[in-house]
Amino acid sequence: MHVCPQKSRQVRIHLSLLRPYQCGHCSQSFSQPSDLRNHVVTHSSDRPFKCGYCGRAFAGATTLNNHIRTHTGEKPFK
Ligand SMILES: [Zn+2]
Ligand SMILES: [Zn+2]
Repeated sequence: MHVCPQKSRQVRIHLSLLRPYQCGHCSQSFSQPSDLRNHVVTHSSDRPFKCGYCGRAFAGATTLNNHIRTHTGEKPFK
């Protein structure tokens, strides 16, 4: 009995065909672009929009504005 190295290489190529969307931050790869996007978010802690009331940080200005309304009690649809 012997282990064929060619076979294991073929398995790896097969896997990369099944999951062509690879994360740029780690070696994980995904079959769907949406899966990759969901995963990449877990790496990024980039939240430049910070709430002046409680210090919570948000990734988008819209999300921050929505959050600030919970402090000010302002109702956007009047
Ligand atoms: Zn990753
Ligand atoms: Zn806040």
